[in-house]
Amino acid sequence: MALESQVLNLNKGLVNFTHEVEKAGGENISVCYQCGTCTGGCPMGRRNALRTRKIMRMTALGLKDELLKSDEIWYCSTCYTCTDRCPRHVKPTDVIIALRNMATRQHIVPKNFLATAGFIYQTGHGVPNNDANRALRKKLGLTAEPPTTHMYPEYIPGVQKILEATGLMAIKAAVEGGKK
Ligand code: SF4
Ligand code: SF4
Repeated sequence: MALESQVLNLNKGLVNFTHEVEKAGGENISVCYQCGTCTGGCPMGRRNALRTRKIMRMTALGLKDELLKSDEIWYCSTCYTCTDRCPRHVKPTDVIIALRNMATRQHIVPKNFLATAGFIYQTGHGVPNNDANRALRKKLGLTAEPPTTHMYPEYIPGVQKILEATGLMAIKAAVEGGKK
């Protein structure tokens, strides 16, 4: 293939990826002017390697493989501070969520996220209640279990149906070799 058509195909792929992220909720990515407000206000970036501005730039440049394989997209706590503050309404949080969804569909997902999905599947909570919490709750005059699926476990099958409908449990089983 001639070099020119290779370059054209490559550019097409990069643009398609950026559009894919935009369609998945990461709209306005192309108007990011790299001011750094997102990185400056990011509470997670103070503690780990997450650099939100860099992720926005890489997305606008269409660097799909690098982004989907990056640990960085999993360091975000989805607090939405960057989205609230972005002067260009880029919605960096939704860009990161879109990237995570794309990575997950390719089975690139950290094991601890899958473990959390497993807890939600089994109990309805990413962090289930435990004896220490129950004792503390009682001390505060609360019921040992919160009024969630812990108190109403009959709603857990509904949570399981939702998780199964998203395809996440099948991905988890495939990545972990059959374990739910
Ligand atoms: S705050 Fe908005 S415009 Fe500024 S770098 Fe971040 S995403 Fe881009
Ligand atoms: S949503 Fe994520 S990237 Fe944005 S400020 Fe919060 S932790 Fe940082």
